[in-house]
Amino acid sequence: MPRPAIELFQKTFGTTPGAAASAPGRVNLIGEHTDYNGGPVLPIAIAARTNAAIGPGAPGESGVLEAVSTRYPIVSRVKWQEELPSGWVAYVAGVLRELWSFEAVPFDGSVRVAITSDVPIGAGLSSSAALSVAVAKALAPNLSARQVAGVAFRAEHDHVGVRCGVMDQTISALGKPDHALLFECASLAATQIPFGARLLLVDTGKRHDLSRGGLNERRAECEAAVKRLKIELPELQWLASWPAEWLPRLKRALREPLRSRAVHVVSETARTRFAAQLLQQGKLRQFGKLLYESHESCRRLYECSSPELDTVVSAAKRAGALGARLTGAGWGGAAIVLVNKTDQKTVPAIQRAFEGAYGRSAPISEVKASAGAHTERV
Ligand code: ADP
Ligand code: MG
Repeated sequence: MPRPAIELFQKTFGTTPGAAASAPGRVNLIGEHTDYNGGPVLPIAIAARTNAAIGPGAPGESGVLEAVSTRYPIVSRVKWQEELPSGWVAYVAGVLRELWSFEAVPFDGSVRVAITSDVPIGAGLSSSAALSVAVAKALAPNLSARQVAGVAFRAEHDHVGVRCGVMDQTISALGKPDHALLFECASLAATQIPFGARLLLVDTGKRHDLSRGGLNERRAECEAAVKRLKIELPELQWLASWPAEWLPRLKRALREPLRSRAVHVVSETARTRFAAQLLQQGKLRQFGKLLYESHESCRRLYECSSPELDTVVSAAKRAGALGARLTGAGWGGAAIVLVNKTDQKTVPAIQRAFEGAYGRSAPISEVKASAGAHTERV
């Protein structure tokens, strides 16, 4: 029950909301920067959630969105059909615009929204998808989980202008307790795989903002690589569809930095599918090795790591953890560490290494695969 969002709504607008929903953040186990390249990803939904309470706008007003969030406590008012607001309200307006095209906007388009969340922003846990999926689910509770994911994806991608893939919104909408989701981003095939291992999340405390910077640059590089590779393989649509056994040919065809970016995407695609098989078979130790390989590929080839993330992963490896890697695009944010249930050494080893290097601590928490978006009783 998202009481805080309901209370924020009441406190801000002086009325009771008409509906509420919540959606989780996510941690991607493996499959980094494969999503927008049409490859597979293997995320879990986490316990941290964003709550959205919604209700009709003031009487007599049409097409006005009023939105408030504990993170941005001043109420924003926008005519969302006329202009796309900047900042966080763009996510909410983007969802409204998408629902508009389905003719599924409630309350004649005059909407009030209150948001509370315990998903940290810019920590690689996808606070943006938790926000857009929670809002979409609250506004259109009858859409299927897939439809909600689609609305939230297009809100973020087409309206806010973040060149994200479909992973974040999909896992936030489809997540299942004690399961990871193998999601093929080109075919949209989704397979739930049991996941009950002990997973640590290490927050480096370095924030990223994906609406600018590294992510958009990497996407442009991947597109440039596909364009060049189409000379070799005219039917190539997605970089991730390049056959892994043709890596030598890919290396000959591309110059740096496109070569390294493409080698990462193609090898990470094969690694992720193999990792999902290993998980199915309960082979955690081999699965963990692939996490280390993924991190190394992100660091060296995709150049999306950071010194803080590298410190965490190296310390985990030295302490004997099963696996570790950056998660959620990189350039700061969080790392995951897979450990045995009885492991006592890894947490203090990471803390020592991190404090030694940066003079501050990195919060470490355990994450559990949790439920996806659902409506909440008001
Ligand atoms: P993340 O990795 O956390 O998704 P992004 O840069 O993709 O990072 O998205 C963060 C943006 O999402 C914030 O800058 C803000 O605009 C929006 N956002 C996320 N959570 C909230 C929230 N609880 N309230 C308001 N805006 C939010
Ligand atoms: Mg995001």
